[in-house]
Amino acid sequence: MTVVIGAGIAGVMAARFLHEEGGEVLLVDRSRVPASGGSGAAGAFISPKIGKGGPLQELTNEAFAFAHRFYRERFPEQFHPTGVLRIPKNPEDETRFALYEPHNYRPFERWDAARAAAAGYRNVPGGFFFPEAGDADAQEVCRLAAAGIPFVQMDIRKLERTGGLWQLIGNDGMIEADSVVLATGYESPLLDLRYMGIRGLWGSRGDYATARRFPVSCHKDFSLSSTRNGRVKLGATHVKHPEPCRICDGRPLAELERKASAIADTADFRLIETFCGMRATSRDHFPLVGPVIDAERTLEEFPEVMRGAKVELIHYENLWILNGLGGRGFVFAPLMARHLARHILRGESFDGRIHPDRLFWKWARRLPNEWRVEN
Ligand SMILES: Cc1cc2nc3c(=O)[nH]c(=O)nc-3n(C[C@H](O)[C@H](O)[C@H](O)COP(=O)(O)OP(=O)(O)OC[C@H]3O[C@@H](n4cnc5c(N)ncnc54)[C@H](O)[C@@H]3O)c2cc1C
Repeated sequence: MTVVIGAGIAGVMAARFLHEEGGEVLLVDRSRVPASGGSGAAGAFISPKIGKGGPLQELTNEAFAFAHRFYRERFPEQFHPTGVLRIPKNPEDETRFALYEPHNYRPFERWDAARAAAAGYRNVPGGFFFPEAGDADAQEVCRLAAAGIPFVQMDIRKLERTGGLWQLIGNDGMIEADSVVLATGYESPLLDLRYMGIRGLWGSRGDYATARRFPVSCHKDFSLSSTRNGRVKLGATHVKHPEPCRICDGRPLAELERKASAIADTADFRLIETFCGMRATSRDHFPLVGPVIDAERTLEEFPEVMRGAKVELIHYENLWILNGLGGRGFVFAPLMARHLARHILRGESFDGRIHPDRLFWKWARRLPNEWRVEN
């Protein structure tokens, strides 16, 4: 049996694909229901990445191509592909849009200011409109993706490998597993994962009642959803802080409301519900999908790795990670989870772009200096 720790979008998708590919799987989270972490707070916009090309944009857009079809087929009631208008963040960004255009995911349309105004977005120079993009109901998608998969509520405090099995020691008992998937988001105290450089960025989302009708969603340095059932979502992840905002009274949203009012008529917006959460990013912003290095043993047995020697890395047996999905957890999770499930169950190899080993070498070379600073 594979135990997936963490029932955010990463964990539920890993469990879903493992289950569908024929594996025996158990989903564990410290909360009673899925999506209690960053995933529940997400606006869950599913849109492509714009930019000057490059590997991260390419990977993101591969994941987007997979995700929008996946959500449309599997969650037709919870995914709303109304299209997303990408608006330049500022005048410099506006000039860069011409450079971005050749690298755009297709199909897309170039909207001018008048076309954007017709969709309710004023004082903007227009932008790129991606008709296949949209947003999902974050909590519902996670809940439905986890449906039919055994679930246990437990806060896992320790992982131990004994007699060829993993023991997951929790606040309230112990679970034995053949293999483990760590999908714990920004929290990673169970093993030494420092080489992956996982860090959190917190953000907030407000759901507002409004009589205004926005037919399409828009994304600037915040996201505003199309109107559904008299409601819109407004959100962004923007604050670098190791701890999330635990008591969210809506104050972090004031700045977002000010920004939104500059491009849309928000006069009648009435805050209904507030969400706050952390999202986890890796050191190089690529997802982390694959086996986990036993850093302590590798450094002990091969100290020359700290001087840049290429050695055979020692991985934990039957233990994988799915994390570092950044601000695009809902875009990345389906494709990354399928990769992981096919590796675990069929032995398919990992794509080097997402394999966590990529981050170990540089981290290990910097270690002696870090030790000196710490001690
Ligand atoms: C405000 C906001 C807006 C966002 N907007 C978007 C967006 O529009 N589009 C998009 O694609 N992404 C968006 N994101 C990013 C997205 O939400 C994240 O990438 C995604 O939620 C990461 O999912 P996860 O499963 O890795 O982590 P999480 O959702 O944080 O899940 C981790 C889970 O692990 C559990 N856990 C941790 N440790 C333990 C333990 N020891 N024992 C048991 N359980 C444990 C936690 O309880 C939690 O449920 C947004 C994020 C935020 C905060």
